[in-house]
Amino acid sequence: MTNAPMIDLREATKKYDDGPPALAGVTLSVAAGDCVAVLGHSGSGKSTLLNLIAGLDRPSSGSVTVDGVRVDRLGEAGSAKYRRASIGMVFQFFHLLDDLTVLDNVLVPAQLAGTGRGEARRRAWELLESLGVERHAKAHPQRLSGGERQRVAVARALMNRPALLLADEPTGALDSSSVEDVRQLLLELNAEGQTILLVTHDVQLAAGLAHRTVELVDGAIARDVVNARALPAVGR
Ligand code: ADP
Ligand code: MG
Repeated sequence: MTNAPMIDLREATKKYDDGPPALAGVTLSVAAGDCVAVLGHSGSGKSTLLNLIAGLDRPSSGSVTVDGVRVDRLGEAGSAKYRRASIGMVFQFFHLLDDLTVLDNVLVPAQLAGTGRGEARRRAWELLESLGVERHAKAHPQRLSGGERQRVAVARALMNRPALLLADEPTGALDSSSVEDVRQLLLELNAEGQTILLVTHDVQLAAGLAHRTVELVDGAIARDVVNARALPAVGR
């Protein structure tokens, strides 16, 4: 363990061609093991922030350091390698490959990373079991419910043991009981030490899951508060 933060943004600004900056001088530090929610209205810069952290996009100015890596200085190959090794991503609409089985979807990151086949399959089964979707391993994702698909997407995101799990509106397409399932799942992962940055506009989810809530308004941090996370892990 070091004291270095998992995420460290300094004055990160992202400007697109015209209009005001999508992100305007954001300085944000997230400790390893923390679970932080980013709230904000549509267009406030939440996805832009995640994209900078994931190395999918570069800041116009400022720095982005994740797990000791200066992400804003990586080239294309370096950035792809960084994402494979250090980042797991979960999205609102799952982004699973419908032509592949559930098991093969979960195996994709390991294949990209060159993990041995036996080891990768063991890890994939272990994740599918711990997320309660192993009985669907040979099915194709479109046969699964939304909540199940998101569990598969989380399994895939965790395949390469990422230092950081990024979730962009992971419950945005789910019914309320699946929202609760995903909340429990993320709570458990964080309790096991997984660092999580979650983007959501669900205030309740943020309060019931994250230790800390950061609110973006027009690309800037308008509020940064510690949550009591007083809601119990069960029975909400
Ligand atoms: P959020 O995820 O909070 O809804 P975004 O980060 O997607 O917000 O977008 C922030 C702002 O940046 C919006 O005004 C959006 O229109 C703009 N924006 C996002 N991506 C692009 C892009 N590729 N080109 C131009 N403008 C963009
Ligand atoms: Mg967004």
